[in-house]
Amino acid sequence: MTDVITPLMGQYRRLKSELPPGTLLFFRLGDFYEMFYDDAVEASRLLDVTLTKRQQVPMCGVPYHAAELYLAKLIKAGRKVAISEQMEDPATAQGLVRRDVVRIVTPGTVLEEQVLDARRHNYLAGLCHAAGVFGLAMLDLSTGEFWIEQFTSPAALGDALARSAPSECVVPESLRASAELAALFPDSGPLRSGELTVREDWTFELDFGRDLLQRHFRVLSLDGFGCDGQPVALRAAGAVLHYVTDELRRNASHVRALHVKTSADFLMLDEGTLAHLDLVPTRSSAAGAPTLLGVLDQTATPMGSRLLRDWLMRPLARHAAIVARQDALEVLTRDRGLLYDVRTQLAEIRDLERLMARLGAGGGNARELQALARSLAALPALRARLAGQPAGGLLADGAAAITLLPELVDLIGRAIADDPPLAIKEGGMIRRGYHAELDELLKLATEGRQWLADYQAREQARTGIKSLKVRHNNIFGYYIEITKSNLAAAPADYIRKQTMVNAERFITPELKEYENKIVGAQDRATALEYELFLQIREAAVQQTAAIQRSAAAIAQLDVLTALADRALVLGYIRPRITDGDAIRIRDGRHPVIEQLAEAERFVPNDVLLDGAANRLIIITGPNMAGKSTYIRQVALLVVMAQMGAFIPAAEAEIGVVDRVFTRVGASDDLARGRSTFMVEMQETANILHNATAHSLIVLDEIGRGTSTFDGISIAWAVAEHLHNQVKAKTLFATHYHELTDLALTLAGVKNYNVLVRETGDRIAFLRRIVPGAADKSYGIHVARLAGLPDGVIGRAREILANLEEGEFGDQGQPKLARPRKGKAGASPNQLALF
Ligand code: ADP
Ligand code: MG
Repeated sequence: MTDVITPLMGQYRRLKSELPPGTLLFFRLGDFYEMFYDDAVEASRLLDVTLTKRQQVPMCGVPYHAAELYLAKLIKAGRKVAISEQMEDPATAQGLVRRDVVRIVTPGTVLEEQVLDARRHNYLAGLCHAAGVFGLAMLDLSTGEFWIEQFTSPAALGDALARSAPSECVVPESLRASAELAALFPDSGPLRSGELTVREDWTFELDFGRDLLQRHFRVLSLDGFGCDGQPVALRAAGAVLHYVTDELRRNASHVRALHVKTSADFLMLDEGTLAHLDLVPTRSSAAGAPTLLGVLDQTATPMGSRLLRDWLMRPLARHAAIVARQDALEVLTRDRGLLYDVRTQLAEIRDLERLMARLGAGGGNARELQALARSLAALPALRARLAGQPAGGLLADGAAAITLLPELVDLIGRAIADDPPLAIKEGGMIRRGYHAELDELLKLATEGRQWLADYQAREQARTGIKSLKVRHNNIFGYYIEITKSNLAAAPADYIRKQTMVNAERFITPELKEYENKIVGAQDRATALEYELFLQIREAAVQQTAAIQRSAAAIAQLDVLTALADRALVLGYIRPRITDGDAIRIRDGRHPVIEQLAEAERFVPNDVLLDGAANRLIIITGPNMAGKSTYIRQVALLVVMAQMGAFIPAAEAEIGVVDRVFTRVGASDDLARGRSTFMVEMQETANILHNATAHSLIVLDEIGRGTSTFDGISIAWAVAEHLHNQVKAKTLFATHYHELTDLALTLAGVKNYNVLVRETGDRIAFLRRIVPGAADKSYGIHVARLAGLPDGVIGRAREILANLEEGEFGDQGQPKLARPRKGKAGASPNQLALF
């Protein structure tokens, strides 16, 4: 036994030693992939397969035909898996069969359908840092999408990572050790450290990367991609491509272009905002929590769904681009017949991007070719239905970008059988009539089988043995079997081959001659089918660039029609987009809350924000009145409007903003598990540093995470700074009534409150936002509603009355109820609270 294992284990150890650290090795042994040592221990636990031991070596294995399933499980568990194959036929190999690692699959590069979420990109990120600039490269190997972006602050980079949520991130060794990276990847950050892949620094060098990218795209310079100004990001892109093609030994031929993203074209949403607004499900959000994506995603294709998510997380910041989308929506909402037809046709189209990735990587089968052909066959009707749309519009552009490829559809239709198998080396894929030689071979094989049936009947008649059978096994092929009791009747020309307990097995020269014909024909037919399949697959792969272009156009048409459908079904209107400063919404609704089945009927509200007298809106009102809902609603409607979508309102005018910031006070953000006051202040600092006069800021209960005096002081100072220095449009919900005094001295501050109706000692929430400050605290009413004993409520009223008597404060300074009388602070430029 030792003699058998040793050379084999030597080979195993060599392959394993060449792998990146932490990679599990699937070692091909016959019909199994085996794992040894620690790999076996870990995999047996993750895969729930039996761990055995040979020569003290722990091992476990999975059958090769089910390998994809096990691979998927390991990748989902965040592991990297190298797959080794036998590189020669064990039957003819001299000595030890040669084995090699053919590919390595990692969470960021997986193509297996069982692991991928059709509605999300699966990104592999590359990260690089030089001279204060962060370069980011994002590759979705499963669709071929590849883009780069540069940032000048770690925070902006972190936001971009949060938006794309990569499954894996390649970083240079030197950055791994740096404090910047540690700051970017805290445990709750966009990446858990386990998903970091650390590579050597030289793979991030600019010349190396540029050269690799040029060779990959077969261009003499990268100028055509417009990435001249992005050297740091290019370095990241080079490292990513090197990692995928050289280290993981993967085929990336379907990656056909590199795109450059520039922030100025987009409405920037930072990570906190993505989470606070519930735009899309994030890692920190509760499973199944309602999101805007959930409300809007009525797309018909996975490509459309992925694009919608991109649009949501990167709304536009350019007037013309927003209006172009709105114009398309306008056409689609006015012509319901067109909308219905286009959506029906889109539903016929499969995930073209991922189909092409699998076919291009050499893994596609006949069913995928068929899915491709069916999807392509739906394109002429789609394009025709969009004919006559206004030139220059997104609908006409989309139709024009769709390439029909009738020859390919015809080829696949003629060549691939109706219900082809998953396997590509076992025949059954090619349609009769496609290839004369194949037909001939298959006919021979069929005739052979018929001849065998005839032969059996003939021999039964000749010998008079009714139970005589012609059978087949792998050792000596076709044979005649006669039971012991009939042996006497066996003819003399039968050649004895094997004696069984109850029967004897014979062959005849005639039988052997036919066997050669049948088996030979079948084998040649199967080999020929494989060859023909490869040719057809290659014909499809040749069209990758055109199909990717069509896919992008289809994704866009899908998102536009889905948004049009939502607009009609949910009663949305087209907001007027301006380059001005005003945001005016009449009867706006919260798009997510109004859809909740268990929610009360939603009460619409207005908003007016501008760069002048309505710059900073302070909203007061009791707990549960609807403050948080209202300020988030305004931010959501702006995001939707800048996506180019229609919005839930009666009428709206939106001056384009460059960024939306939201910050939710620590004690109100418990659900996200980031409840420290420190985090609250960090996020507030980020807003104060990065917001501009064209930003929209939503602050919910800022300052609440600390003591009252502290909290009011900070909230007050933040509000003043935003009003005087930043001049951003701001919505500030607070339960500190003291802040309403800001309106007395600051020209751009307006007070609003949430209307509450009092009947006796009870209150009803009317959900109406009205001008003016809430004039008293309703806390005691709420306490009463909550069932606090009457005695306690009565005593609270007494104390409140006493406190209100002690109220003091100068104009322009916050008033603060205190238990004892005191004198206002003397210094005018100090925040003299006490
Ligand atoms: P606050 O921030 O003032 O404490 P919230 O915004 O959290 O209050 O709202 C409390 C509840 O009221 C939420 O459950 C929300 O669904 C409901 N609500 C808020 N605004 C409206 C509205 N305009 N119409 C209907 N229900 C609303
Ligand atoms: Mg609130």
